Amino acid sequence: MEVRIYPLNTGFIKLDKGVYVTGGRGYGEEIEVPAWAFLITDGKENILVDTGMSATENADRHHPGSYQPEGFRIDAQLKKMGLEVEEINTIIFTHLHWDHCANLPLFRNARCYVHAAELAFALDPHILYYKSYSSPKAGMTPTFADVAFQTVAGEYAYNDFVALFPTPGHCPGHQSVAVKTAKGLYVIAGDAVFADENLQPDVHRNLPFTPMGRFVNVFDMYASMAKIIQRADHVLTGHGRGVGRQAVYP
Ligand SMILES: [Zn+2]
Repeated sequence: MEVRIYPLNTGFIKLDKGVYVTGGRGYGEEIEVPAWAFLITDGKENILVDTGMSATENADRHHPGSYQPEGFRIDAQLKKMGLEVEEINTIIFTHLHWDHCANLPLFRNARCYVHAAELAFALDPHILYYKSYSSPKAGMTPTFADVAFQTVAGEYAYNDFVALFPTPGHCPGHQSVAVKTAKGLYVIAGDAVFADENLQPDVHRNLPFTPMGRFVNVFDMYASMAKIIQRADHVLTGHGRGVGRQAVYP
């Protein structure tokens, strides 16, 4: 079977467009964005990229008004694909923000890959990011605290059609996933490219794409976006509505 990528919508997050998506414009505009996880499969192996966001009650603590509709939890979405959580042997995390690693303890048989810098920061975040990482210091419980991760640092070829590469900026140890398909190279960007609008030129600033509003390092963020766009034939964003245009890629 050819390599396929299935986007899995795990819920909706309410956020300020200018603060998160399009830095420099859209401030004060409240929008609702999907929280994507992805299943990559060649028919033999099932690889999950992120486990998505949490249930409504917890999501609302992070971003008020966010919600996870019935049937959108990661295990329910996999079930719709005919997969049980036990059948997932590999999970690749783009990063460890709350909306990308919820329900991780459900995956008892999975080997979990994360960038070393991301794990270090997630376990001991800056006060500005306590909530993003569900830190106990914010009275929350992170899902990743007791996980024995496989850490990577730098480019890593997982197999002959999946490769990880560092894309820091949104957070310290963000990584993206390059997937070779019969119709070109897809990059699952995670939040290194937040939404579809970030792929459009920034006319006001005369830039080839629109930098995001939320980052720990603006220069790394810009360089990572440029790297992804240059490398990819197709970009799958972390929170873009456009991802939902197809049920399966390519
Ligand atoms: Zn996110």
